[in-house]
Formats: sequence, structure tokens, C-alpha cells
Amino acid sequence: MNAYEETVLQNLSEEIPADFSKATPKEVYMAVSKAVMKQIFSTWQTKSERKKACYFSAEFLLGRVIHSNLLNMGLLEETENLLRQHKIDPKVFEKVEDDALGNGGLGRLAACFLDSGATLGISLNGYGIRYRYGLFRQTFSYGEQKEEADDWLAFGDPWSVRRENERVRVDFGEESVWAVPYDMPVIGYGGKTINTLRLWQSEPLHPFDFELFNEQKYEEAVAEKNAAERISNVLYPNDDTDEGKSLRLKQQYFFSSASLQSILREFKKSYANDFKKLPEQYAIQLNDTHPVVSIPELLRLLIAGENLSFSEAFSIVQQVFSYTNHTIMAEALEKWDVSLFCTVLPQVYPYVVMLQNRLRHEIGSNSQRNPDDYSLIAGGKVHMAKMAVYATHSVNGVAKIHTEILKKKTLKEWYDLYPERFHNVTNGVTQRRWLALCNRELSKFITNRIGNSWITNLSELEKLVPYADDPDSLKQLMQIKKEKKNQLADYVYRKDNFGLNTENIFDVQVKRLHEYKRQLLNAFSILDLYYGLKEGRIKDFYPTTFIFGGKAAPGYDRAKGIIKYINEIANLINYDDAVNRKMQVVFVSNYDVSYAEKLIPAADFSEQISTAGTEASGTSNMKFMMNGAVTLGTYDGANIEIVEQAGEENNYIFGARVEELEALGENYHPRIFYEREPRIRRVMDSLVNGTVTDGGSGVFQELYRSILDGASWHRADYYYLLLDFLPYCETRLRANQDYLRDRTKFTRKCLLNIAHAGVFSSDRTVSQYAKEIWYL
Ligand SMILES: *Cc1c(COP(=O)(O)O)cnc(C)c1O
Repeated sequence: MNAYEETVLQNLSEEIPADFSKATPKEVYMAVSKAVMKQIFSTWQTKSERKKACYFSAEFLLGRVIHSNLLNMGLLEETENLLRQHKIDPKVFEKVEDDALGNGGLGRLAACFLDSGATLGISLNGYGIRYRYGLFRQTFSYGEQKEEADDWLAFGDPWSVRRENERVRVDFGEESVWAVPYDMPVIGYGGKTINTLRLWQSEPLHPFDFELFNEQKYEEAVAEKNAAERISNVLYPNDDTDEGKSLRLKQQYFFSSASLQSILREFKKSYANDFKKLPEQYAIQLNDTHPVVSIPELLRLLIAGENLSFSEAFSIVQQVFSYTNHTIMAEALEKWDVSLFCTVLPQVYPYVVMLQNRLRHEIGSNSQRNPDDYSLIAGGKVHMAKMAVYATHSVNGVAKIHTEILKKKTLKEWYDLYPERFHNVTNGVTQRRWLALCNRELSKFITNRIGNSWITNLSELEKLVPYADDPDSLKQLMQIKKEKKNQLADYVYRKDNFGLNTENIFDVQVKRLHEYKRQLLNAFSILDLYYGLKEGRIKDFYPTTFIFGGKAAPGYDRAKGIIKYINEIANLINYDDAVNRKMQVVFVSNYDVSYAEKLIPAADFSEQISTAGTEASGTSNMKFMMNGAVTLGTYDGANIEIVEQAGEENNYIFGARVEELEALGENYHPRIFYEREPRIRRVMDSLVNGTVTDGGSGVFQELYRSILDGASWHRADYYYLLLDFLPYCETRLRANQDYLRDRTKFTRKCLLNIAHAGVFSSDRTVSQYAKEIWYL
């Protein structure tokens, strides 16, 4: 037995001396995690002398870290064997809380990047907030979403180290708090590089006021503590609006300022006050606008704190920072009311004004530009995305089409001014989690054929191409898919008490609920299929299980209405004996990273059906591709690059393209589609004619009206559901019939998708950032 195994058993015997097989999941989890922490301790302490990249992000959606840490340390199989020897189920860690310190794609991307950075041997460290409660836990009651607090600390936090002596003070207009860092190791594959994810927790300067307590003012005695803790209390369950404004701005400043202070403190240990060297030592990536307040804050720290001139400080700031844009949704380009900004951050606002003055001066001397187009402070608001473009050296979009839209529309004036600043860096995902860990059967299949170097070099997958014509390989691939469906069925049965028919095609749409992602279009098309099958219009059809998963922001009523509608449609279909042998529909609850790891490997079809031009990139589309699902999707985000790689003939692409929607302009009249096409009218009317009911809330009527008449700021059918409806139904049926008629030919498509997934590794993405943006 080696030292690691001894430590695990030693830790276990401290928790439960007699019989290890009786240990609780938490006890096993603690014993193993602490043994790994001991193992990595000395490697983790060595400080890098090279230039460091810092990833500032309001979210890190890590998912469960124990499996990936064990895999990357090369301890996964050894640990599982050890547990088996002591009669402990090696799947025990699946009972441990998934941690959810992120909303969805943006936070998961940050987690994939950290894994890739450490694996590439780059010094890439994450900085964010240690929320007490992550994204809410979702349940359904009568088909409606209910939210519960996500208590991720219930299983302890063996992976974090509290660094009390590295705390820093953060000041707001009306209060001051300590930011206390909790550091988590980020272990690269092979265990050679161990980076750090530093998450800040907000704590009071004075936890308790004895005087007030003695005066029996109990509430007031802990008021400061409560106010401070509020700052890192919850993750905003909304990744695209600026709700809870004051607290949200406080959160953003809290982790931005704390991270910058700790970076400067470390810098000064080696370089004293030679701040010109800062850009040689640090590159800071701003993940969306959430950390953009870092820009005026670093100016402030350098000017007020270190006596630099504005022009010296500006030059440093611009070299250090770069910015990633994640969305073109107008409501997500953050703006803060000047009055709010001044109340929360009075000491920072003057630096925003200095930036604005510098910009005005620059534009004023350029006669071809209209100063009104370039204002960081306009209409009584501070524009964070504009600030990010102006004061950094790089702005990037996250897929080719997205970057083009940024250049041509969203940030057009800025692209005209600074074309050299704009880059595209298409997103990626880590194949360690999204293939090696979540689909060990497929991993073995791949490794048996081409060796295991794909784990750190995903383009190796190209070597699978010849196997597309090997009948034996295709047969094995089908068997693996079946096995993953069986495993998923067990999981869904346990979690959601629903029986999946594993003989069926699995057609999966899992992602946050949003109108632009068009889960409602999927539901309409399922209802249309149902009528078609029931009434004999559709004859050839391979039985299909339609699976949905995803959370709606608690204040987003229409998205919650869509969940309710899908659950109602599911009931209608699942209980109809005339069709339920041909189709079933289920909405799984609490979609998170762990659920994704079960769902994605079992999917035949990956639903990626956002309105063209709305999904910046998408990353679940890449996870599905790697696991051998074909994409049923629109010309949007990274879907376009996926079919560029894998071939349009191996995927199913439909619907209006961005240029077509642009050309259509004001001439789109959804009501004409509604009136002309009975199938459209029928599914639309199901919202209001009693086919299904919303329980009296009126939300179905609201959805109906939003499509036919428009509602609030949306014009009618803002996301073109009715325009794309028939092409979607046709393409979906064609895909089904391809599967029905020739399974081998269909499986060939799956294999070719896997073989061409190489560029969608976040290893490629992070290497590109390192070279083109961070100059590591
Ligand atoms: C990958 C992932 C996402 C992003 O999904 P998209 O379909 O790209 O929006 C969201 N949530 C979880 C849990 C994920 O793993």
C-alpha cells in the first residue's frame, strides 16, 4: 500500500474506526479529499515566476470536483479499487452535493478554462466570490418550478483553504468589510501544475458589538455582521439582467477590488513600486461585464494608492486587462445608474469620469467621429461594456458568428475606432470532464483504437475517421449508447421517479430556460408530432423520448410558464395510451453539472435551436458532439463551426439564418403564419383553448399574446418561433427517419461527429487566449 492509500484509510479510521463499509458518503468524501490535499500540498505551494493570467469571473460552475481531481492526479482507479476492497461503493461520491456557484454556460466555461490552464502548464488562476448559497435547487409542484436554497456546504468543504492572513479590506460608500480568501487547488491533468481558484468571502470588520448587546439592542449588535455577510450570501439566479442592483454592484466591486489588492500585494513583494512591470507579470481576463468595475478600481489603486499619474496608470490598465463579451442581448449589457454608482462606490466614480474625459479628448481630436457615439456615461448611466472596450487591449467574442455580430452591430462604432482590438476565440469544453469522466465506456472505445493522447490533445480524435467504415466499431458504438441510456434511465428513475424507455431515441434539450433558446418551439413541435402520430398523418416514426432540463430565473415568469407548459404537454402525451409507446416526454428537475454528465452521453439528438444570432456560442452543443450525438440545430453560435468541422451531412441544420432575419426586418408578421397554417394554429391554440391548463395563472395566455401581439418590450414573436416551426418539424422527422431506416448509417454520423470534435477542447481555447491575448 502506498502513502496515499494509507492516508485515506487513516483518515477513515479517524471518522469511523470499526467497519468502513458503514461509513457515510460524507465520511468517505472527507477521507479521500483530505488525502488528495495532503498529496498535492507541496506542489501547490510553489509560486510561479512566469507571467500569470488571472480569470476574473462572478461565477465558477465547477460541479463536483472530487472525480476530476482524482482523474487528474491519476488516482481515480486506485481510489475506486481501494473503496471496493473495503466494501464501499465506488459510486459513493455521487451522493455528495454538486456545487453550483454559477448559473450556466458562462460559469461552466470558467471552470473548463481553469482545468485546461492547469493541464497546459500555464499559470492561470481564477478569482471570484465564495457564495454561501449557490444557484437555487429546482423542484416541480404540479408542473411548476419551485426554488429552494442550495446549501452546498452541507457536505463540508475539504477542497478549500482559508487564508486568514491574506484578507483585504474593501470599502463602500456606507460600509467596509473584510474580504477573506478561500483557495481551492486547480489540478492539471498529470498533477504537474496546480493553480488556484481564489474565492472571496465577505465578513464584518466588527462581528459583534458588545455595548449594544449590553444595552439589550440584540438586533443592532449583529447588524454589521449581517450586512457584511449579505454581500457574499447568494449568487444571483439571473445571468442576463441587472436586478438587485445595489447588492449586485457591491458584489462585483467586492471581488474585483479584493482580487486586485491581492495581486498588487503579491506583485510588490518582488517588484516593489516598479508598476510598469505589472503588465509583464499579470494579464487579467474580465469574464463578461461583471468584473469590469476592476478598470476604474485599478486606476484608483495606482493613482490614489501608489501616486502614479493618470496617463501612467491608464497605460498599465490597458495592457493588463482584456474583456470577453458573452452576449448581444441588449438587456445584458450592464449599465449602472450614475446615482447608484456614486452612492455605492463614491471613491471609484471620479475615475470613471477621468476615463470619460480621456475618451472625449481622443474623439474630439478625430473629426470623423461623432462624440455622441462614444460615451461611457450617457443617459444618466455608466456603460460597463463600453468602458471595457475602451480601457482594455482586447475584446473577444466567443464564436465566429458572435464576434462578427459584435463588429457589425453591437459594438460597431468601437470596431470602427479600434479594429485591432477585436478577436474571436471560440469557446471549448474540457474533454477530461466531458468525455473521459462522464463517458468512460466511450473513452475506452476511443483509447482502444487510437491510444490515450486525446486526453490532453483532442485533435487526436481525427484518427477515428477510418473507423466510420468499420461495421464492428459502429456496432460497439451503438452498444455504448445503449449502455449510457440504461445508466441514465436508472438515474432519472431515482431522481425524478420517471421510467425512460431505453429502446427509444433520446432527444435532449438541456440548458437554462430562456425565450431565445426556444424550448417552447421544441414543445410545439412535439405536440404537432403527437397529433400527427395520433391521427395517422405521420406513419414512419422511430419511438422517441424527449428530454428537457433547465432552470428558469425565479423572476422570469414567461420562462416559468414554458416549464409549466412542457410539463403539461408531457402529461397529456405520457398518459395517452394511443401514442405513449411511440413517444414520451420528461422534464428532469434541477439540471446541473452532475445531471448533464448523465444526460449528455445518452443523447442521440442534441437540440440547439436558438434563434439565429442570439446564442453567443453555446457549450453544451460541444459536449454532445464529443459524446456522439448529432446536432439538430440552427445556424447559430458554435453550431455553425460544429457543422463546419463534422459536415452538414452528419448533422441536421434548419431555419432562418441571421441574414434572412435581417432582410425580413419589419416585414415579419407572425399572425399570417398563424392564420395560414392549421398545424401552427393548432399548437398555438393549445395555450388558450383548454388542451392544457396553467392552473389559472394566466401565463399561457401571456405566452400566446407575446407571440401573436407582442408584449412589454418584445414585438410579436420576437424569437421567430412561427417562422421556423415547419422547417424544424420537417428536419426533425427527417432525422428520425434516417435513424429508423439505417441505424448503421446514422451511427456513422455519430462517429464522425466525435472524430471532428477536436477543436472544441477548451485546451485549444485557452492556448489561444494565452498566445493571442495574454502574451504568456
Ligand atoms: C454546459 C452547461 C451549460 C451551458 O449550456 P448551453 O446549452 O450551452 O447553454 C449550462 N448548464 C450546465 C449545468 C452545463 O453543464
